[in-house]
Amino acid sequence: MDSKVLSVLENKIQLIKTDKGAIYLVGPIRLPVNLYGETVVFQWYCWLNCDEVTEDYQRIIDKLSSSNLAELQQSSVLAYGDFQYGDEALIRMHSICHTGDIFGSKRCDCGFQLKNSMKMIVEHGTGALFYLANHEGRGIGLFSKAMAYILQENGYDTVEANEGLGFVDDSRNYEDAISVLKALRSKPVTLITNNPKKLEALRQSGMPISGRRPLWGDISEYNEQYLQTKVNRSGHLREEGTCTND
Ligand SMILES: [Zn+2]
Repeated sequence: MDSKVLSVLENKIQLIKTDKGAIYLVGPIRLPVNLYGETVVFQWYCWLNCDEVTEDYQRIIDKLSSSNLAELQQSSVLAYGDFQYGDEALIRMHSICHTGDIFGSKRCDCGFQLKNSMKMIVEHGTGALFYLANHEGRGIGLFSKAMAYILQENGYDTVEANEGLGFVDDSRNYEDAISVLKALRSKPVTLITNNPKKLEALRQSGMPISGRRPLWGDISEYNEQYLQTKVNRSGHLREEGTCTND
């Protein structure tokens, strides 16, 4: 193996020990992003879970080409401003939504929430967006989500559809993202969310929290029922005077 590859990469890899093994965090990588027509430069990091815990990163690099990583998804984080030391930081834990984020589906408000939370972070000056790749359909995966959509077209609400396929309504887990957050920042954060479960997961981890910012909007005839279910069935916090809806 080319030893130069390791020398280029090793200062950009961080080992985070977890209960199950390790998270290898790589970055920061300069990432200019088109955000509502403006170019904004983020610092991008990506992480990989691994059973093996080692600071010999060559061992990890050696495994990559045979690990079939494209068949699995990795999560990542877009940081903005002085995320490590800035006094006030806004963070968003965004669950992947293939249909909403990529295609711009109006059946949910995920695409809107993704772009809008990035904008809120940039306007605030410091923050990070965690993009959680194993959270599709609240943790049921894309194929099951397609089936859940068919059930929804036949009278089931989002909670009933997930449960009808044998899943719990919401199996999302925030442990890895919170471990990465703690590796990047120890000062307080304000969480952008309407979901009390996300706030509670962060609180239980011992991460200092300075507040919560709601994120409602993009209500339409296509997602009205979905958003109402979030409030009625999943305990989402509705804000006075705004639309319904993470
Ligand atoms: Zn969505």
